[in-house]
Amino acid sequence: TCSDAKPGLPPKADIDVKHVILVLSGKGGVGKSTVSVNLAYALSSHGKKVGLLDLDMHGPNIPKMLGIEEYKLSTIGTKIEPVRVTGALSVISMAFLLPDKSTPIIWRGPMKMAAINQFLTDVNWGYLDYLVVDLPPGTGDEALTIAQLAPNVRGAVIVTTPQDVATLDSKKAIKFVEKLGLPVLGVIENMSGMVCPHCGQEIDLFGKGGGKKIADEFSVPFLGAIPIDIDMRKAGDEGRPFIIRRGDSTTWASVDKVMEAL
Ligand code: ADP
Repeated sequence: TCSDAKPGLPPKADIDVKHVILVLSGKGGVGKSTVSVNLAYALSSHGKKVGLLDLDMHGPNIPKMLGIEEYKLSTIGTKIEPVRVTGALSVISMAFLLPDKSTPIIWRGPMKMAAINQFLTDVNWGYLDYLVVDLPPGTGDEALTIAQLAPNVRGAVIVTTPQDVATLDSKKAIKFVEKLGLPVLGVIENMSGMVCPHCGQEIDLFGKGGGKKIADEFSVPFLGAIPIDIDMRKAGDEGRPFIIRRGDSTTWASVDKVMEAL
């Protein structure tokens, strides 16, 4: 209602969604988009209706990871149609609006806010059990805006790599989520060790355990550790979520924990 609206802000978007889940990291390149794609895919495989909203405007890689990068958005009536990857998974990304893949987006805060509002309000999402939102790394406008405009934001999943410089930035991300008044649904440690494909020995490239340590420090759930895996990188480049290639058990377990936390 009007009395709930804060001055200068549009009211909450009118979108029929049960749970909005933010995916956030302190730094770029830690696997936030990979986690978003696999989380959304896994939730949809549980028979849920899922939307995946790629708000990483400066590096919108979700369409590439799902093999739908050639799609352009269409409209029916006054509504934008999301790209439907399966009957249960719909995607909206800034990438669909760009004239070509190498064009950067150079927008100030208010333009981003208007675009996010439109991605929520003017898209024909239909009913959604979950809307997974892939945010840009760090603590910027996009997260603030989505937290203000989306209904039923249940909290954030924090993706980190194990080393100190990454966990330091993740602590900021956790504090940011707490400042927004949202629960941290849990921490996922990605790129946690790797098994050498030649000798089978485990190599702790970025170390191990950093994600668990910060989860404990902030008393938030630890959702699991995903090792560095060449198949995972290939899956991203080939546009096939890892979870359907290999039925990755850590990812499945993390998804179950997220569903329990909601
Ligand atoms: P972010 O969204 O945090 O910038 P991405 O999800 O785009 O990170 O991941 C960065 C790159 O690392 C991508 O090429 C992705 O396929 C790859 N990657 C992510 N996680 C893993 C992993 N566990 N093992 C191997 N490659 C990974």
